[in-house]
Amino acid sequence: MGKNEMFSEKLQQIQAAGLYRRMRYMQSQQSAHVMIAGEDYLMMSSNSYLGLCSDERLKQAAQEAIEKFGTGSGGSRLTTGSYELHKQLEEEIAAFKGTEAALIFNTGYMANLGIISTIADKNWVIFSDRLNHASIIDGCRLSGAEIVVYEHGDMEDLEQKVEKYRGKRGLLVSDGLFSVDGDIAPVPGLVDIARRYDMLLMVDDAHATGVFGKNGGGTADHFDLPEGVDIMVGTFSKALASEGGFVAGSRDLVDYLVNRARSFIFSTALSPASIAVSLAALKIVQTEPQARETLLTNARWLRQELCQAGFQTWNYPTQIISVFVGRPEVAVAFSERLMERRIFVSAIRPPTVPEGTSRLRINVMATHTKEDLTRAIITIKDVGSELGVIA
Ligand SMILES: *Cc1c(COP(=O)(O)O)cnc(C)c1O
Repeated sequence: MGKNEMFSEKLQQIQAAGLYRRMRYMQSQQSAHVMIAGEDYLMMSSNSYLGLCSDERLKQAAQEAIEKFGTGSGGSRLTTGSYELHKQLEEEIAAFKGTEAALIFNTGYMANLGIISTIADKNWVIFSDRLNHASIIDGCRLSGAEIVVYEHGDMEDLEQKVEKYRGKRGLLVSDGLFSVDGDIAPVPGLVDIARRYDMLLMVDDAHATGVFGKNGGGTADHFDLPEGVDIMVGTFSKALASEGGFVAGSRDLVDYLVNRARSFIFSTALSPASIAVSLAALKIVQTEPQARETLLTNARWLRQELCQAGFQTWNYPTQIISVFVGRPEVAVAFSERLMERRIFVSAIRPPTVPEGTSRLRINVMATHTKEDLTRAIITIKDVGSELGVIA
């Protein structure tokens, strides 16, 4: 077998299963409309929920930081890559989350990998929601701990499983807002079980940060339970329109991670420009709640219209709308036909979601206009009937 034959064989299998993926290249900034191959697309798959990726104030913040501090950070955080800006951002996150301290990682993915594998080892048991994000799953695997998966959002199932491991060091981990189904985790239930069984609770609010909670602080803020969650993870890469992950928690937790988390220690620090954008975005989400209200109003309307048209969706009050179509080929065809009509909607297939639940995932933005959404509804209905997804 030639060195590359293995790859082409594997690729053929992926293609035959309808699971082949490829990239599309933007020629414009990320906003409610994007340019691809010279054409204007209505963007309905962006994680820039508040439309901040194209915000002039954030661009300005990046430019000023570049002027003052240059481009790259020049080293890892423990060597030469820590700037006053990093410290300032960590203090702001701690205040935003109501914790003693916070720590920035280069991505949300690296945060989960580093945090979970630092805290837990083979003497621990980790209870993980079935639909947790891949970065949580990978962090769990890397830790070497025993992993117990409980049914999605099912507190009864969780408690039955936890009961069997009494006496063992436990970490309970969940997405705050699940990107696959678009539902919010039962945080009060998680807090209750973590307390009663003396486990650490970690909630990853990648999609909820800047969107839920009265200050945009995420799901703990939404449920008004900031003290119940020991380890609050989030990312700057979604609603906050920047890049980087973070964790907020106790001073000791943060110090321990600084000293032990390999994905923190062995990677070059984020550039000053990224940090400056995160700082500016954090300020915007805390002072401009209107944007998240508009976002959720837009989402509510779109979801309702799609439901009425006969599409199968969950009825969750979030900005992520999953439209179930079943087979991966149908999801891909649906997405492609929408693309032909210049609406950008991604098909989500296994292994991101369980077999038989392929879907379109629609991400609403605060900057979608009534006109944008009306066009989306009409087009999605048209394609849905063409493909027999709706009657
Ligand atoms: C997107 C996401 C991440 C990864 O964050 P990045 O900053 O994009 O690496 C982690 N966890 C969850 C739940 C996510 O949705």
